Amino acid sequence: MNFKKNDQSFKCVNCGCNVEKLNYSSRDHCNFCLYGLHVDIMPGDRLNECKGVLKPIEIMQDSKKGCIIVYKCLKCGAIIRNKMAEDDNYEEILKISAHKN
Ligand SMILES: [Zn+2]
Ligand SMILES: [Zn+2]
Repeated sequence: MNFKKNDQSFKCVNCGCNVEKLNYSSRDHCNFCLYGLHVDIMPGDRLNECKGVLKPIEIMQDSKKGCIIVYKCLKCGAIIRNKMAEDDNYEEILKISAHKN
């Protein structure tokens, strides 16, 4: 699969933090509160009209990709999986993992 790289800084809709570019990949969620926006159909394409808020609901371990954050779109209900970024807030990751059990 061909993922487009669309790395931009943005202001988080959930916590209001300024999220810097990721540089090694596309920044697709806030690294402070881990929330994202439903803007992609395929990762990085920014073609989705939904623009709903993606709430992190679960953390999955993938043997190849590492930590995956599972999101639920609060607007359309879609389930989205995004790879955890290197600088994601680990406390939030732990909170979501703990929440699940
Ligand atoms: Zn945030
Ligand atoms: Zn959506």
